[in-house]
Amino acid sequence: MLLLRRLSHVSILIQHPKGTFVFDTGLGSQIEGQFHDHFSFLDRQLFKFTKLNSLREILLENKFSPDSIDFIIPTHLHFDHASGIEDFPKATVWTTKEEYDHAFSEEAMPPAFIKEQYDADFIKWNFMDFDTSAYEIFNESYDVFNDGTVVLVKLPGHTKGSLGMFVNLKSGKRYFFTGDLTWAAEAFIKPAEKHSIPRKKVDGDREKVKESIVMVHYLAKEKPEINLVPAHDFNAQKGIAHFPEVEL
Ligand SMILES: [Zn+2]
Repeated sequence: MLLLRRLSHVSILIQHPKGTFVFDTGLGSQIEGQFHDHFSFLDRQLFKFTKLNSLREILLENKFSPDSIDFIIPTHLHFDHASGIEDFPKATVWTTKEEYDHAFSEEAMPPAFIKEQYDADFIKWNFMDFDTSAYEIFNESYDVFNDGTVVLVKLPGHTKGSLGMFVNLKSGKRYFFTGDLTWAAEAFIKPAEKHSIPRKKVDGDREKVKESIVMVHYLAKEKPEINLVPAHDFNAQKGIAHFPEVEL
């Protein structure tokens, strides 16, 4: 039996004394045209969405200037994460060289990648050099503000340069945003892969995906206090403050 789940397309807004950024952009203001121009009829059924407000619209409705977003870190450059990048022309896009090269290669095709979402000349790219200092069970990491509050790790497989983000709040609460490695947090506990039909369309390297899932599986066993939040898991996101509410 195929269970239908509610999928969400979210963006995580991080405000820190040293900068403001979003992790993923969700579905951007141009998503309908992008979907129509680049997707086959079948893919349009498989990846159907209900249009809510874009990140830019939500910020504006709440009197938060989109220009105050200093940078964007996409978990990866698939269409449902990169769609809003060009809605923020002032923001620098931080990614890894491997994700960038893959996203601009001939292999990167719809329905996974839509190059038009991130090929504008005005985009300023910043390639992050991960250092070899281990973080949790990962042997490479990137400390965004150099204070341990926001730390990125590599979760390869879904795409070459997929990223995960740890957020350590003052309250002691810890989150690990795991992108599209799985679509449900329970999949890390079992551990389990995605359903085979969408998996074949979106996962770049099945073996690497399995290895990355197993890493998170062991982390979750060792540290059950860390809240695992996949990018499309509506249930896992329910407990997180929704903008304009904030968590400290
Ligand atoms: Zn996705």
